[in-house]
Amino acid sequence: MNFDYDVTIVGAGPMGSSLAYELSKENLKVCLIDKKKVIGLPLQCAGIINKRVLDLNQIPNEFILNKARGAYLHTKNHSLTVSKDEYQALIIDRVALDQYLYNRAIESGVDSYLSSKALAIDDVSGEVEFQHDSKRKTIMSKVIVGADGPMSMVSSSFGNEFDYFCASQYLVKVDEIEEMEFVDLCAFEDLFPGFIWVIPVYKNIFRIGLFSNHDYKRQAEILDDFLRNDFKYDDYEVIEKYKGRIPVYNKNNRLYKNRAIVIGDAAAQVKPTTGGGLLIGFETIQIAKKSILTALKSNVFNSNDELNSKNDSNLERIVENDKEILQNAFKDYQKDFEKRFLKEMSIQFKVQETLCTLSDDDLDYFFKKLKEKEADKLISKYGDMDNQSILVKEFLKRGLILSLLPSIHKKELAKIWLL
Ligand SMILES: Cc1cc2nc3c(=O)[nH]c(=O)nc-3n(C[C@H](O)[C@H](O)[C@H](O)COP(=O)(O)OP(=O)(O)OC[C@H]3O[C@@H](n4cnc5c(N)ncnc54)[C@H](O)[C@@H]3O)c2cc1C
Repeated sequence: MNFDYDVTIVGAGPMGSSLAYELSKENLKVCLIDKKKVIGLPLQCAGIINKRVLDLNQIPNEFILNKARGAYLHTKNHSLTVSKDEYQALIIDRVALDQYLYNRAIESGVDSYLSSKALAIDDVSGEVEFQHDSKRKTIMSKVIVGADGPMSMVSSSFGNEFDYFCASQYLVKVDEIEEMEFVDLCAFEDLFPGFIWVIPVYKNIFRIGLFSNHDYKRQAEILDDFLRNDFKYDDYEVIEKYKGRIPVYNKNNRLYKNRAIVIGDAAAQVKPTTGGGLLIGFETIQIAKKSILTALKSNVFNSNDELNSKNDSNLERIVENDKEILQNAFKDYQKDFEKRFLKEMSIQFKVQETLCTLSDDDLDYFFKKLKEKEADKLISKYGDMDNQSILVKEFLKRGLILSLLPSIHKKELAKIWLL
């Protein structure tokens, strides 16, 4: 079989472009296909990310617009401040970052097709069919990566199914923001399992949005209502509106099939409680890269001539053996991903389940009790937007989950947390 590329990646979002760059650094022939004409647009992100991302070398300083070291958490009638001395989160220019990651891949030798919608893949032969310049085109590659976001065609072709949340966001201008180092997060009963975020970006610009179980129309009403009644600035102007989908991780879905794998939102590699997918995605790229490099060592990808030159009687055995190498490499991708993230995901699903049992009154009670028992200090100390299991373990260790919530929920909570 003759291949045009070692790896074809469908989707030049942050995950597709970063993986393309990482693979081309290993001298692989890589192709990126994206249906967008201009990478990164429209913005579909609040752009807040754990500072740990800096260790992964994917975000140069020039794309950091602000840094946050704490959050004001709000229920309907109470507020709580959690903070650390050092900044914890970066607020980034997501559009510029996506374009930078794409250009970095191209400069390192990756080929690309923009304005090109991938229509179908054949995970057995390695064929990718896409629409380019109003024509149908196909390319063959040894490995196909679906990095095609929350509505992934590649993931659907595996038979995967996801639930989604809608997310909506406004860019809001005020005269001058008073507090740049804190974000506001609002936990209201009718938003669960989601929340509203208010993120200071520049000295006069906020990103204000929410994810929730509502459709976009209802979310717009909720945001308008929030700005009118709960926003701390009277004078403001909504200058842009965005929306997008957040997929819900489903552990029954597969991350690979034959020659193809999925990463990022295409694999719903998103933190359940926050809807954040950037840190987890960037971390997963290293796991996917390792598996792809192992898979490409297999002879399955040799041309027919190369295979025929081997002793005929052994050919079938060689091919079968190498198919196994390929499948084991991709099986390891799924295994390593799950080993790294599954425990954290399952704790976050339990946090979500817990929140969904609570009313606004319960939440008020919870915040009041948190303050009384000085448990807010625990949140400041152990809270981590991406590793929430650390804080949950502290709460469990101190028996706080049951004692901070109204006793009426005891039975449900004991069931969720196996207490
Ligand atoms: C409103 C909102 C706010 C968010 N805020 C945050 C946040 O603050 N922090 C955080 O960490 N995460 C956040 N997220 C999630 C984050 O944006 C995603 O996890 C991240 O974009 C995933 O990157 P990706 O490369 O996997 O997918 P995407 O960024 O979705 O990129 C997929 C790419 O594939 C292309 N594509 C899709 N289908 C095809 C096709 N058939 N053919 C060719 N190309 C195709 C698309 O054009 C796109 O360029 C937010 C999401 C939303 C919706």
